Amino acid sequence: MIDFHVHIGGISRTRNPAVHDLTAQQLVERMDREGIEKSVLLPLESPEAITGWFLTEDAIAARDMYPERLIAFLSLDPRNMKLEEPFDMFVQDYGCKGFGELKNGLAFDDERHQAIYAKCNEYGLPLVFHSDPTLCYDEVGLPALESMLRKYENCFFCGHGPGFWAAISADDDRSGGYPKEPIEPGGAIDRLLGEYENLYAIFDAGSGYNAMTRDPEFTKAFIERHHAKLLFGTDYLRAFQELPQVDWLGGLDIPLEWKQEMARGNAERLLGLAEQD
Ligand SMILES: [Zn+2]
Repeated sequence: MIDFHVHIGGISRTRNPAVHDLTAQQLVERMDREGIEKSVLLPLESPEAITGWFLTEDAIAARDMYPERLIAFLSLDPRNMKLEEPFDMFVQDYGCKGFGELKNGLAFDDERHQAIYAKCNEYGLPLVFHSDPTLCYDEVGLPALESMLRKYENCFFCGHGPGFWAAISADDDRSGGYPKEPIEPGGAIDRLLGEYENLYAIFDAGSGYNAMTRDPEFTKAFIERHHAKLLFGTDYLRAFQELPQVDWLGGLDIPLEWKQEMARGNAERLLGLAEQD
C-alpha cells in the first residue's frame, strides 16, 4: 500500500499530553505494523493549517533517512514572495514528487493559488489540497475546482477534507462537516471525477472515511465508476491515531484489481513510480 497523506514533525504545539507529534522513525514503525510500504510526507506551511509547522526541509530530511519508504512533497504558503524559486529548487534539486498539503484561508481559485497550480502544471505534478468552508474554499457545485481542472490540465488535483468529501452528495450546502445521511446521487465530485482526467480523491482522514462508509450501497457504485481515481491515505499525524481506512479497504468486497489500484496502482502512476519498477 502507498499512503498518500501523512504528516510528521512539530505540528502540535500543545500541552495536551495525549497529543504527540510523530518522528520519522515512529511513522515507519507504524507503516510496518499496518503493511504500508510507502508514505507521502505532506509539509504544512500555512498558518491556518495546524498550530505548528512541518517544513518541506524536514520532509526531505526524513525522506533521506528512509528513501525506500518515504516520499517528500513540497509545500509553500501561497502568500510567500518569490514562490517560483523555491518551488523549482525543491523539485529539481531535492526530488520532491508533488505539492501539498495545500490548506489555507484563500479561495480555491485565488490568483496566489494559481501560481502554484501553474508550477504543478509545468512539471506534471500531483497536488494534494484540503477543502473546507473557510479553507481553500469553493461554492456549491465546486465551480472554482472545475475551472482550475480545466485551466491546469497537467496538474493532478487530489482532493481531501470535509468540504471536498461533503460534495459527494448532491445536497452539499458547503457547510462541510461529517454528514451521516445517505448520499444523494449527483454530487459534484462524482461528476468531476468522471469528467476530468486530472482529478483524484483521497479516501483519508475522518472525512474520506465517513464519505466512504455513510452509504455502503452508493459507495459500491461510486467505486465501480472511479476505482482508477481513488487514492488510499490516512492523514496519520499523531501517535496512537486510529487508521480505519486500512481495514476498510482490506475488507471491501470488490474485484482485487480495483483494490490494488486504490491501494497503490493509482498512486504509483501519479508519483512516477510505475515506470521505475
Ligand atoms: Zn493533512
